[in-house]
Amino acid sequence: MKIEVLDSGFIEVIDHLGTDLTVVNSARVSFGKRQTVYEEGDRKLVRFLAKNKHYSPFRHMIIQFHIKAPEFVMRQWYKHVVGIETTNSSATKDHAWNELSGRYVPVKDFYKPLVWRQQSTDNKQGSGDNMPDDLNTECQKIFDNFMKNVEESYDNLLKIGVAKEQARTILPLNQYTEIYWTASFQAIMNFLELRTEKTAQWEIRQYAIALKKLVSEIYPETTDIWFQAHDWE
Ligand SMILES: Cc1cc2nc3c(=O)[nH]c(=O)nc-3n(C[C@H](O)[C@H](O)[C@H](O)COP(=O)(O)OP(=O)(O)OC[C@H]3O[C@@H](n4cnc5c(N)ncnc54)[C@H](O)[C@@H]3O)c2cc1C
Repeated sequence: MKIEVLDSGFIEVIDHLGTDLTVVNSARVSFGKRQTVYEEGDRKLVRFLAKNKHYSPFRHMIIQFHIKAPEFVMRQWYKHVVGIETTNSSATKDHAWNELSGRYVPVKDFYKPLVWRQQSTDNKQGSGDNMPDDLNTECQKIFDNFMKNVEESYDNLLKIGVAKEQARTILPLNQYTEIYWTASFQAIMNFLELRTEKTAQWEIRQYAIALKKLVSEIYPETTDIWFQAHDWE
Protein backbone atom coordinates (compact mmCIF):
# COMPACT_ATOMS: atom_id res chain seq x y z
CA MET A 1 0.00 0.00 0.00
CA LYS A 2 1.73 3.10 -1.25
CA ILE A 3 0.52 6.55 -2.32
CA GLU A 4 2.66 9.01 -4.28
CA VAL A 5 2.65 12.53 -2.80
CA LEU A 6 3.99 15.80 -4.32
CA ASP A 7 6.56 15.39 -7.11
CA SER A 8 8.85 12.72 -5.61
CA GLY A 9 7.37 11.86 -2.21
CA PHE A 10 5.27 8.96 -0.98
CA ILE A 11 3.73 7.25 2.01
CA GLU A 12 3.97 3.47 2.13
CA VAL A 13 2.58 1.12 4.77
CA ILE A 14 5.32 -1.23 5.94
CA ASP A 15 3.42 -3.09 8.62
CA HIS A 16 0.34 -2.83 10.82
CA LEU A 17 -1.09 -4.34 13.96
CA GLY A 18 -4.74 -5.22 14.56
CA THR A 19 -8.01 -4.82 12.71
CA ASP A 20 -11.30 -3.00 13.33
CA LEU A 21 -12.01 -5.68 15.93
CA THR A 22 -8.94 -4.67 17.95
CA VAL A 23 -10.56 -1.54 19.38
CA VAL A 24 -13.76 -3.50 20.09
CA ASN A 25 -11.99 -6.31 21.92
CA SER A 26 -9.66 -3.96 23.78
CA ALA A 27 -12.74 -2.21 25.16
CA ARG A 28 -14.77 -5.41 25.75
CA VAL A 29 -12.03 -7.01 27.85
CA SER A 30 -13.54 -4.93 30.68
CA PHE A 31 -16.53 -7.35 30.50
CA GLY A 32 -14.35 -10.43 29.92
CA LYS A 33 -15.68 -10.69 26.32
CA ARG A 34 -14.06 -11.15 22.92
CA GLN A 35 -15.71 -10.83 19.47
CA THR A 36 -14.58 -12.67 16.36
CA VAL A 37 -17.04 -11.03 13.95
CA TYR A 38 -17.67 -7.28 13.67
CA GLU A 39 -21.35 -6.51 14.40
CA GLU A 40 -23.64 -3.49 14.41
CA GLY A 41 -23.39 -3.26 18.22
CA ASP A 42 -19.63 -2.87 17.80
CA ARG A 43 -20.12 0.21 15.64
CA LYS A 44 -22.21 1.74 18.43
CA LEU A 45 -19.57 0.87 21.02
CA VAL A 46 -16.74 2.38 18.93
CA ARG A 47 -18.81 5.52 18.27
CA PHE A 48 -19.39 5.86 22.04
CA LEU A 49 -15.68 5.42 22.78
CA ALA A 50 -14.62 7.97 20.14
CA LYS A 51 -17.27 10.52 21.10
CA ASN A 52 -16.58 10.31 24.81
CA LYS A 53 -12.78 10.36 24.49
CA HIS A 54 -12.26 6.82 25.79
CA TYR A 55 -9.21 6.74 23.57
CA SER A 56 -7.00 4.03 25.10
CA PRO A 57 -8.54 1.14 23.06
CA PHE A 58 -7.52 3.02 19.88
CA ARG A 59 -3.86 2.82 20.91
CA HIS A 60 -3.63 -0.94 20.33
CA MET A 61 -3.83 -0.38 16.58
CA ILE A 62 -0.41 0.55 15.26
CA ILE A 63 0.86 1.32 11.75
CA GLN A 64 4.45 1.59 10.53
CA PHE A 65 4.91 3.91 7.57
CA HIS A 66 7.79 4.66 5.24
CA ILE A 67 7.49 8.33 4.26
CA LYS A 68 9.44 10.41 1.79
CA ALA A 69 8.81 14.14 2.11
CA PRO A 70 10.64 17.46 1.80
CA GLU A 71 12.53 18.48 4.93
CA PHE A 72 10.22 21.45 5.60
CA VAL A 73 7.25 19.01 5.77
CA MET A 74 9.20 16.66 8.05
CA ARG A 75 10.02 19.53 10.39
CA GLN A 76 6.28 19.97 10.91
CA TRP A 77 5.72 16.21 11.15
CA TYR A 78 8.26 15.62 13.88
CA LYS A 79 6.48 18.06 16.19
CA HIS A 80 4.04 15.15 16.68
CA VAL A 81 5.91 13.51 19.50
CA VAL A 82 3.09 11.95 21.50
CA GLY A 83 4.30 9.17 23.75
CA ILE A 84 7.97 9.99 23.42
CA GLU A 85 9.79 9.06 26.60
CA THR A 86 12.84 11.21 27.00
CA THR A 87 13.59 10.53 30.64
CA ASN A 88 15.28 7.14 30.23
CA SER A 89 17.09 5.07 27.63
CA SER A 90 13.88 3.73 26.04
CA ALA A 91 13.49 6.03 23.05
CA THR A 92 9.73 5.98 22.50
CA LYS A 93 6.56 4.43 23.81
CA ASP A 94 3.92 5.05 21.20
CA HIS A 95 5.56 6.93 18.41
CA ALA A 96 8.81 5.90 16.75
CA TRP A 97 10.87 7.87 14.27
CA ASN A 98 13.96 6.88 12.28
CA GLU A 99 15.36 8.97 9.47
CA LEU A 100 17.64 8.63 6.48
CA SER A 101 20.96 10.29 7.24
CA GLY A 102 22.55 12.88 4.99
CA ARG A 103 25.81 11.92 6.74
CA TYR A 104 25.72 8.53 4.93
CA VAL A 105 23.69 9.15 1.79
CA PRO A 106 24.16 12.10 -0.59
CA VAL A 107 20.96 14.14 -1.06
CA LYS A 108 19.55 13.64 -4.56
CA ASP A 109 15.94 14.82 -4.68
CA PHE A 110 14.52 18.27 -4.17
CA TYR A 111 10.87 19.31 -4.11
CA LYS A 112 9.97 21.70 -6.92
CA PRO A 113 6.79 23.75 -6.35
CA LEU A 114 4.95 24.35 -9.62
CA VAL A 115 2.39 26.80 -8.28
CA TRP A 116 3.69 29.68 -6.16
CA ARG A 117 1.36 31.15 -3.54
CA GLN A 118 1.14 34.71 -2.26
CA GLN A 119 1.62 35.55 1.41
CA SER A 120 -1.77 35.48 3.15
CA THR A 121 -3.03 38.86 4.33
CA ASP A 122 -5.14 37.45 7.20
CA ASN A 123 -2.91 34.59 8.44
CA LYS A 124 0.68 35.48 9.24
CA GLN A 125 1.99 31.96 8.63
CA GLY A 126 -0.30 30.92 5.75
CA SER A 127 -0.64 31.30 1.99
CA GLY A 128 -3.19 33.37 0.10
CA ASP A 129 -4.13 33.16 -3.57
CA ASN A 130 -1.86 31.66 -6.20
CA MET A 131 0.56 34.04 -7.92
CA PRO A 132 -0.68 35.45 -11.22
CA ASP A 133 0.81 33.59 -14.23
CA ASP A 134 3.53 36.15 -15.06
CA LEU A 135 4.80 36.26 -11.46
CA ASN A 136 4.55 32.48 -11.20
CA THR A 137 6.92 32.24 -14.17
CA GLU A 138 9.24 34.75 -12.48
CA CYS A 139 9.22 32.68 -9.23
CA GLN A 140 9.98 29.55 -11.25
CA LYS A 141 13.00 31.24 -12.84
CA ILE A 142 14.36 32.40 -9.48
CA PHE A 143 13.86 28.90 -8.06
CA ASP A 144 15.48 27.12 -11.02
CA ASN A 145 18.54 29.42 -10.98
CA PHE A 146 18.98 28.98 -7.26
CA MET A 147 18.58 25.19 -7.36
CA LYS A 148 21.02 24.83 -10.28
CA ASN A 149 23.60 26.73 -8.24
CA VAL A 150 22.87 24.75 -5.06
CA GLU A 151 23.00 21.32 -6.72
CA GLU A 152 26.20 22.14 -8.63
CA SER A 153 27.87 23.56 -5.51
CA TYR A 154 26.88 20.53 -3.41
CA ASP A 155 28.19 18.12 -6.07
CA ASN A 156 31.43 20.11 -6.35
CA LEU A 157 32.00 20.00 -2.58
CA LEU A 158 31.50 16.20 -2.64
CA LYS A 159 33.82 15.86 -5.65
CA ILE A 160 36.57 17.78 -3.83
CA GLY A 161 36.14 15.28 -1.01
CA VAL A 162 34.22 17.27 1.61
CA ALA A 163 32.36 15.05 4.07
CA LYS A 164 28.67 14.54 3.27
CA GLU A 165 27.77 15.65 6.79
CA GLN A 166 29.33 19.04 6.12
CA ALA A 167 28.54 19.50 2.42
CA ARG A 168 24.83 19.22 3.23
CA THR A 169 25.01 22.45 5.25
CA ILE A 170 24.43 24.38 2.03
CA LEU A 171 21.21 22.50 1.14
CA PRO A 172 17.77 24.15 1.36
CA LEU A 173 14.64 22.83 3.12
CA ASN A 174 13.12 21.44 -0.08
CA GLN A 175 15.58 18.51 0.04
CA TYR A 176 13.69 15.22 0.31
CA THR A 177 14.27 13.00 3.30
CA GLU A 178 12.87 9.61 4.30
CA ILE A 179 11.63 8.27 7.60
CA TYR A 180 9.99 5.28 9.20
CA TRP A 181 7.15 6.52 11.41
CA THR A 182 5.22 4.20 13.69
CA ALA A 183 2.18 5.52 15.48
CA SER A 184 -1.07 4.38 17.05
CA PHE A 185 -4.47 4.97 15.46
CA GLN A 186 -5.16 7.69 18.03
CA ALA A 187 -1.86 9.48 17.32
CA ILE A 188 -2.56 9.31 13.57
CA MET A 189 -6.05 10.78 14.09
CA ASN A 190 -4.51 13.65 16.08
CA PHE A 191 -2.12 14.23 13.17
CA LEU A 192 -5.02 14.21 10.69
CA GLU A 193 -7.06 16.64 12.78
CA LEU A 194 -4.22 19.17 12.88
CA ARG A 195 -2.76 18.65 9.43
CA THR A 196 -5.90 18.48 7.30
CA GLU A 197 -7.27 21.78 8.56
CA LYS A 198 -7.09 24.67 6.14
CA THR A 199 -4.49 26.60 8.18
CA ALA A 200 -2.04 23.69 7.82
CA GLN A 201 0.47 24.13 4.98
CA TRP A 202 -0.76 22.81 1.61
CA GLU A 203 2.18 20.42 1.22
CA ILE A 204 1.68 18.64 4.57
CA ARG A 205 -2.07 18.52 3.88
CA GLN A 206 -1.34 16.39 0.80
CA TYR A 207 0.42 13.90 3.09
CA ALA A 208 -2.46 13.99 5.60
CA ILE A 209 -4.96 13.23 2.80
CA ALA A 210 -2.86 10.25 1.67
CA LEU A 211 -2.47 9.08 5.27
CA LYS A 212 -6.23 9.10 5.75
CA LYS A 213 -6.71 6.91 2.65
CA LEU A 214 -4.18 4.37 3.92
CA VAL A 215 -5.62 4.25 7.46
CA SER A 216 -9.13 3.86 6.00
CA GLU A 217 -7.96 0.83 4.02
CA ILE A 218 -6.51 -0.85 7.10
CA TYR A 219 -9.22 0.09 9.64
CA PRO A 220 -12.23 1.07 7.46
CA GLU A 221 -14.93 0.88 10.16
CA THR A 222 -12.93 2.59 12.91
CA THR A 223 -11.74 5.43 10.66
CA ASP A 224 -15.25 6.05 9.37
CA ILE A 225 -16.73 6.05 12.87
CA TRP A 226 -13.98 8.29 14.24
CA PHE A 227 -14.60 10.86 11.50
CA GLN A 228 -18.38 10.78 12.06
CA ALA A 229 -18.04 10.97 15.85
CA HIS A 230 -15.86 14.07 15.54
CA ASP A 231 -17.87 15.63 12.69
CA TRP A 232 -14.86 15.62 10.39
CA GLU A 233 -15.26 15.47 6.62
C1 LIG B 1 -1.42 25.01 11.65
C2 LIG B 1 -0.30 24.74 12.61
C3 LIG B 1 0.65 25.70 12.86
C4 LIG B 1 1.71 25.46 13.76
N1 LIG B 1 2.65 26.44 13.99
C5 LIG B 1 3.69 26.19 14.83
C6 LIG B 1 4.71 27.16 15.08
O1 LIG B 1 4.66 28.26 14.55
N2 LIG B 1 5.74 26.84 15.89
C7 LIG B 1 5.82 25.63 16.52
O2 LIG B 1 6.76 25.40 17.28
N3 LIG B 1 4.87 24.69 16.30
C8 LIG B 1 3.83 24.93 15.49
N4 LIG B 1 2.89 23.97 15.27
C9 LIG B 1 3.06 22.66 15.92
C10 LIG B 1 2.13 22.49 17.13
O3 LIG B 1 2.43 23.43 18.15
C11 LIG B 1 2.28 21.07 17.70
O4 LIG B 1 3.59 20.90 18.22
C12 LIG B 1 2.07 20.01 16.64
O5 LIG B 1 0.91 20.27 15.90
C13 LIG B 1 1.94 18.63 17.32
O6 LIG B 1 0.69 18.56 17.95
P1 LIG B 1 0.42 17.70 19.22
O7 LIG B 1 1.23 18.19 20.39
O8 LIG B 1 -1.07 17.58 19.39
O9 LIG B 1 0.96 16.27 18.72
P2 LIG B 1 1.37 14.96 19.49
O10 LIG B 1 2.76 15.07 19.95
O11 LIG B 1 1.03 13.86 18.55
O12 LIG B 1 0.46 14.93 20.76
C14 LIG B 1 -0.85 14.35 20.74
C15 LIG B 1 -1.61 14.79 21.97
O13 LIG B 1 -0.99 14.22 23.12
C16 LIG B 1 -1.08 15.13 24.20
N5 LIG B 1 0.27 15.46 24.63
C17 LIG B 1 1.41 15.37 23.90
N6 LIG B 1 2.46 15.73 24.64
C18 LIG B 1 1.99 16.06 25.85
C19 LIG B 1 2.58 16.52 27.05
N7 LIG B 1 3.89 16.70 27.16
N8 LIG B 1 1.78 16.76 28.12
C20 LIG B 1 0.45 16.55 28.03
N9 LIG B 1 -0.18 16.12 26.93
C21 LIG B 1 0.58 15.88 25.86
C22 LIG B 1 -1.85 16.33 23.71
O14 LIG B 1 -3.23 16.15 23.97
C23 LIG B 1 -1.62 16.28 22.23
O15 LIG B 1 -2.61 16.93 21.46
C24 LIG B 1 1.81 24.19 14.41
C25 LIG B 1 0.84 23.23 14.14
C26 LIG B 1 -0.19 23.47 13.25
C27 LIG B 1 -1.21 22.38 12.98
